Amino acid sequence: MSARDRLRIAIQKSGRLSDASLDLLARCGLTFRRSRDKLFCFGETLAVDLLLVRDDDVPNMIAEGVCDLGIVGRNVLDEQFLAAGCAGQPAGFRELRALGFGRCRLALAVPQEFQYVEPAQLGGKRIATTYPNLLAKWLERAGVDAGIVSLSGSVEIAPRLGTADFICDLVSSGATLAANQLKEAAVVLESEAVLAAGATLPGDERGELIDMLLRRIDGVIQVRA
Ligand code: ATP
Ligand code: ZN
Repeated sequence: MSARDRLRIAIQKSGRLSDASLDLLARCGLTFRRSRDKLFCFGETLAVDLLLVRDDDVPNMIAEGVCDLGIVGRNVLDEQFLAAGCAGQPAGFRELRALGFGRCRLALAVPQEFQYVEPAQLGGKRIATTYPNLLAKWLERAGVDAGIVSLSGSVEIAPRLGTADFICDLVSSGATLAANQLKEAAVVLESEAVLAAGATLPGDERGELIDMLLRRIDGVIQVRA
């Protein structure tokens, strides 16, 4: 790893987690010289800089040592953690703190007219998702053998297109499901934004900065709770 002395945190550039991530860091006393559409923000109050990236890139940027910490949905972190395991690699990142915003559920959803009672009903069916590893783990735990249709997006229209029988997707209000004549049937993962770090924390000044930041984050979370 390069001998950086400034800490780097990756956050989502633009999306559901962006504003709340910046707000959390501001409440921790961090200010940045930034322009929101730029990739890099220089920390003014502490030696902590930001990288603004796609949420999906956060875990790997940590694993590769490009940044030390990241804020990302548990859904993304856990999916990529399982994917690394399947590929026989150590993940190189882990969840340090749950942050209390960006709450949603990775849920199994079925057509509105389907009478869902238990996972056994999924046997032999096809389920479309962008979270194949989390879904596979849930199905395995339930002892169900179902087909996983791995898509990169627009999962909710798969049942209407006939490419899958059910879906497994992120839900918060359920409005998108209802608009696609689907309903939530079971929760696969409870998710929220989390602070992620590498498998081992840096032992230099950055490690001390992380300790300080964690204390501040814990304070902010306690005040909110
Ligand atoms: P990017 O361009 O960074 O890849 P994205 O489209 O993948 O963005 P967003 O839709 O902004 O991501 O969602 C980011 C995270 O917000 C999700 O991974 C999830 O943890 C959280 N989230 C909270 N509520 C919802 C929801 N209703 N639907 C999707 N994600 C949600
Ligand atoms: Zn994304």
